[in-house]
Amino acid sequence: MDSAKRAWTILSEHKNLSMNDDINIFSVVRNNLMNQEGYSPYCGNDIARNEINGCDNPRTVFNGEQFVCPHCNWISQFPKEFILMYKEKWGLVKKIN
Ligand SMILES: [Zn+2]
Repeated sequence: MDSAKRAWTILSEHKNLSMNDDINIFSVVRNNLMNQEGYSPYCGNDIARNEINGCDNPRTVFNGEQFVCPHCNWISQFPKEFILMYKEKWGLVKKIN
């Protein structure tokens, strides 16, 4: 998957944006994740809250592997390498003694 497509897939937290805008936001989210402790992206479920399986897109919760929506169980699709960097940054990697 090329990076533009991947960014599009990962970053659904803002709607009605062009592909280029989305890539910019994608990098903003990654930047926030790496620089703001406790930051989490919004749920990327694009079904409206009043429809079946819809969601009001709250902030997600990190489950150790990805960010998960507490309302609808939407899950982020960050690349493994990025998640590893994120966990190392915030001391979330289990150290083997
Ligand atoms: Zn959700």
